[in-house]
Amino acid sequence: MTAPPVFRFAPSPNGELHLGHALSALVGADMAKRFGGRFLVRIEDIDTRRCRPEYIKHILEDLAWLGIQWEEPVLRQSEQFPVYIEAARQLEATGVLYPCYATRTEIAAAGRGGEGVDPDGVPLYPGRDKVLSACEAARRRSSGAPFALRLDMARALDLAGSVLKGRPLTFIELDAQGTPREVPAEPARWGDAIIVRKDVPASYHLAVVVDDARQGVSHVTRGLDLYPATGLHRLLQVLLGLPEPVYHHHRLVTDERGRKLAKSAHDTSLRSLRSQGWTLQRVREWLGLDRSFG
Ligand code: GLU
Repeated sequence: MTAPPVFRFAPSPNGELHLGHALSALVGADMAKRFGGRFLVRIEDIDTRRCRPEYIKHILEDLAWLGIQWEEPVLRQSEQFPVYIEAARQLEATGVLYPCYATRTEIAAAGRGGEGVDPDGVPLYPGRDKVLSACEAARRRSSGAPFALRLDMARALDLAGSVLKGRPLTFIELDAQGTPREVPAEPARWGDAIIVRKDVPASYHLAVVVDDARQGVSHVTRGLDLYPATGLHRLLQVLLGLPEPVYHHHRLVTDERGRKLAKSAHDTSLRSLRSQGWTLQRVREWLGLDRSFG
């Protein structure tokens, strides 16, 4: 017998869930049901300054209201830092990470030459030696200054190329009917991405690939806004020797001006809709979820 597929919904408790999150959670839960799979909820709270415990409570209440059932215990990323540190050590041992002491202001100033921005709109890091002189970096290192760990993208791609024996880096995307298609992963768009932040011993990208693997997640369902991140996640999976999940990136819920819903938009928060008398059926209809997932 083959193991059932594993799906997950992985919200960050830095605000109330809104209709966009409802779509994401329901798409994952519906797909899990359809595929006879398991469904997990993971709390992505590595950003300890922005995440708040009361939001975790609200998230779980909202998910229960959406009729979603998940397995216990719910993993909280803020409790897993040693695991991310170990994964970062593993990457570091392959020579693809380097410490970066530069501040945001210094990076922005150095990047005025026009390196462009990453898919999150953050200016691309101009390169290992282009922001601080070797001498200044050494001075900061010996003074014990905090540092981030960045991926040396060129080296990482080289190493992945040899692991994959020249096969291209790709991932499997399922469409809304569940039909798979192999698509190119384009991690280079992220430049020398931060893998371990200065303030916490992880980053979204590192934590997500480590946890998807540890939790045996076989199907990652999430919004199209995270499509570019999947390329970087595939690269990290290859470098860390982790299994490859399949992906489904669902459409985004937008407001009347076509912008992605924000966590600050209280009028579409699930809590507020619930108090206005919305029912699960109304949410599903509003999201157009009666026919197929996503
Ligand atoms: N924690 C992320 C968010 O709330 C989602 C991560 C993922 O699904 O990979 O946007």
